[in-house]
Amino acid sequence: MKYRKLGRTGLKVSEISLGSWLTYGNSIEKEAAIRVIDKAYELGINSFDTANVYARGEAEKIVGEALRKYPRESYVLATKVFWPMGDGPNDRGLSRKHVFEQLHASLKRLQLDYVDIYYCHRYDKETPVEETLRTIDDLVRQGKVLYVGVSEWTAQQIQEALGTADKYLLDRIVVNQPQYNMFHRYIEKEIIPVCEQNGISQIVFSPLAQGVLTGKYKRGQKAPEGSRASDPKSNMFMSDLLKEEILVKVEQLEKVAAELGITLSQLALAWVLRQPNVASALIGASRPEQVEENVKAVDVQLTEDVLEKIEQILA
Ligand code: NDP
Repeated sequence: MKYRKLGRTGLKVSEISLGSWLTYGNSIEKEAAIRVIDKAYELGINSFDTANVYARGEAEKIVGEALRKYPRESYVLATKVFWPMGDGPNDRGLSRKHVFEQLHASLKRLQLDYVDIYYCHRYDKETPVEETLRTIDDLVRQGKVLYVGVSEWTAQQIQEALGTADKYLLDRIVVNQPQYNMFHRYIEKEIIPVCEQNGISQIVFSPLAQGVLTGKYKRGQKAPEGSRASDPKSNMFMSDLLKEEILVKVEQLEKVAAELGITLSQLALAWVLRQPNVASALIGASRPEQVEENVKAVDVQLTEDVLEKIEQILA
């Protein structure tokens, strides 16, 4: 495994991180989830991602249980707050009340005293940024949160938060968690430049486009059994990714990978990691073998020629 520094902090995260959305507490059993997490840890992944809302707290419980046997200093645990956790008017968003209560609920489920990274899972138009940052700053001062992150915020929202943090001497955002893969590149234009200027890294989610960039979904064929696309509990965000025009590109990208003697998933992960501003590619995995295959991407260096070939396919 290789490690990169997270923004302007001294923290180092593995180039591949493992997440728990749709898998742990949902599509696979607890024992199977723990086997995947153990494999990731064994292969040097030190960065694990979850959220209060994943399987309504179940994912946090499983990740916490899996990691509890390892020394606390050996891994970086991230969780998030924003999405509804109940039906009440205060059971959502980034108000002082909800953030404060949810961090404590997350710590309880994870069985931890602190989280390494606490993300605002989305921007909350109903709460002043100052209120949210002050609350997380309090949690940092209490030793319950070490670093502050945001997820899927626009460049403008990130700049607003940085200005607010500087004005009130609050802890600054050091990491952004956006979606980034060969088919979803909006961060390249504004977000990466703003973050680079401000010492913020990206930990990018769905780098394999939910498994489409492994090549396992073929044109005109049913999704393989046991895959995310075949599971009605977890395939709700995949229809756009399984369109003919995408799958044709996937076939072409597979050829590029084959010429390099690597798999498509390794090509897709090396491609996101070509960006120095990306500290880590945040994958999901339902089996240990997937992690074994994916971590090998950290040794793949893509030449200018290969990158140009990929651009032509994606154009
Ligand atoms: P990926 O794009 O890495 O897709 C992961 C899925 O692809 C796996 O669960 C598995 O699904 C399949 N897969 C992975 N590797 C292989 C392989 N080598 N061969 C075959 N299939 C493979 O990421 P996710 O979409 O899962 O997102 C990753 C993480 O990012 C989440 O767990 C979560 O922590 C975070 N996230 C954050 C969001 C946010 O708003 N901040 C939103 C979404 C995700 P299967 O075997 O079931 O087909």
